Amino acid sequence: MNLVNHPWNIVFVAGFVVYMAIRQVYMARTKDTEKSVSRIDGIEKILLVVVFAGSLLVPVLYLLTQLFAFADYVQPAYAPWCGAAVMVPALWLFWRSHADLGLNWSMSLEMRREHELIRTGVYRRMRHPMYAAIFMFGVAQALLLPNWVAGLSALVSFAPMYIVRTPREERLMIEAFGEEYEAYMRETWRVFPKLG
Ligand code: SAH
Repeated sequence: MNLVNHPWNIVFVAGFVVYMAIRQVYMARTKDTEKSVSRIDGIEKILLVVVFAGSLLVPVLYLLTQLFAFADYVQPAYAPWCGAAVMVPALWLFWRSHADLGLNWSMSLEMRREHELIRTGVYRRMRHPMYAAIFMFGVAQALLLPNWVAGLSALVSFAPMYIVRTPREERLMIEAFGEEYEAYMRETWRVFPKLG
């Protein structure tokens, strides 16, 4: 089992458990908040299934079975150290973006009944810190798991979701907040902090 063969996988599993726990906590907290708009169409559903497969199913199968053994490779010794170093800020940003969005968070393209535009905390300089955190987690995964399939699955599965969803989400936010969101767009970048 890969979990015991590669000791670094324990570090990945620890990060993965924290990542999932953050999601679960905020899913439970926002469960009863009423939604006023929902844009979950066929494409969004397919993208959600792809992300689920790439970020949950594939790593779990890799850790517990030999299914992806054909794609194992030998990493340079520094790679998992870099992975662990990226994992820490990824988890911090993932947690802070959920905390700052509060009851406005939802897993998909939805607006809450009393939706507020958040422009503070980690949303001050970038519009999509949660997506930035998901990309960073994907980089950590790639550096921690010495397997081409399981290492890259989170990054590869999230990329189409990011490309398709981000402009749709921004259109939804402009519909809801108009000029205020447009001003916010001028002050921020998507996944990199706009300094100055
Ligand atoms: N794209 C953001 C949020 C992801 S959660 C990020 O990466 O951090 C997705 C939901 O958050 C969307 O459906 C939208 O309703 C909501 N949302 C996105 N940006 C927001 C903001 N600045 N303030 C309040 N809600 C926001």
